[in-house]
Amino acid sequence: MSATTGRVALVTGGSRGIGRATVLRLARDGHDVAFCYRSRPDAAQELEKEAAELGVRVVGLQADVAEASSVRALVAAAEDRLGAIDTVVTSAGIVRDQPLLLMKDEDWHQVLDTNLDGTYHVCRSVVFEMMKRKSGCIVNISSVAGVYGNPTQSNYSASKAGIIGFTKALAKEVGQYGIRANVVAPGFIETDMTSGLSDKVREQAVRSVPLRRLGRPEEVADMVSFLVGAEYVTGAVFQIDGGIVV
Ligand code: NAP
Repeated sequence: MSATTGRVALVTGGSRGIGRATVLRLARDGHDVAFCYRSRPDAAQELEKEAAELGVRVVGLQADVAEASSVRALVAAAEDRLGAIDTVVTSAGIVRDQPLLLMKDEDWHQVLDTNLDGTYHVCRSVVFEMMKRKSGCIVNISSVAGVYGNPTQSNYSASKAGIIGFTKALAKEVGQYGIRANVVAPGFIETDMTSGLSDKVREQAVRSVPLRRLGRPEEVADMVSFLVGAEYVTGAVFQIDGGIVV
């Protein structure tokens, strides 16, 4: 059981994958944690149950990060249940892969709306309170696709590159208020997002990684936890990708 530190974290997309591992890690670090999911309350309830044993409060809330009003309601509900938010991790994200020639407008917009606008909505909703308290930590989850670009992922790569530019700008704006903003850019991580990869693509992925395996969500959560405690780090992009060669 972890001793509560009185710190409060909000994790978007916390019900599955990297977000889920982050919720558990921050809870073990002593944070009370609110997390959001969009469409699968079953996964959220299961996580709440698992986290209940950690000696902190962990609350799952439904929200769609692509909608500004939904995010404002999420932040209000999280603060109502747990108190002022110190730490934010934006992990909610989707893929809709297609070569550009076959890209549907809807798939372009859904990915940008969720991944990039979603990150903006969350940061926009928490930053003023953080500025007033002169303290805060934001960790936005991007991807190596946002650093190098990935074929068939022009929408996803654009959204993840946007997160990097957004976070660097934010770090420069709000550093003077004691707020840090950093990016974690994972490579291939074993989650539902990558479980649909064909054997061929998976083999290619593993061959491109010097460590010759996919990463685990818990390994990404370790890096998030490090950044939450790294008081002199801001505006940085931390890749966690097994040394991927592109
Ligand atoms: P995942 O297992 O598919 O989980 C996605 C999570 O995001 C779920 O909790 C989902 O909730 C939530 N979500 C999706 N759309 C949402 C929306 N509009 N509003 C609120 N919540 C939403 O994904 P993951 O692999 O953990 O990925 C997490 C983050 O890491 C994403 O930003 C992804 O782009 C990034 N990333 C992943 C990898 C990888 O290899 N897995 C690599 C690089 C970067 P529901 O289940 O309720 O829909």
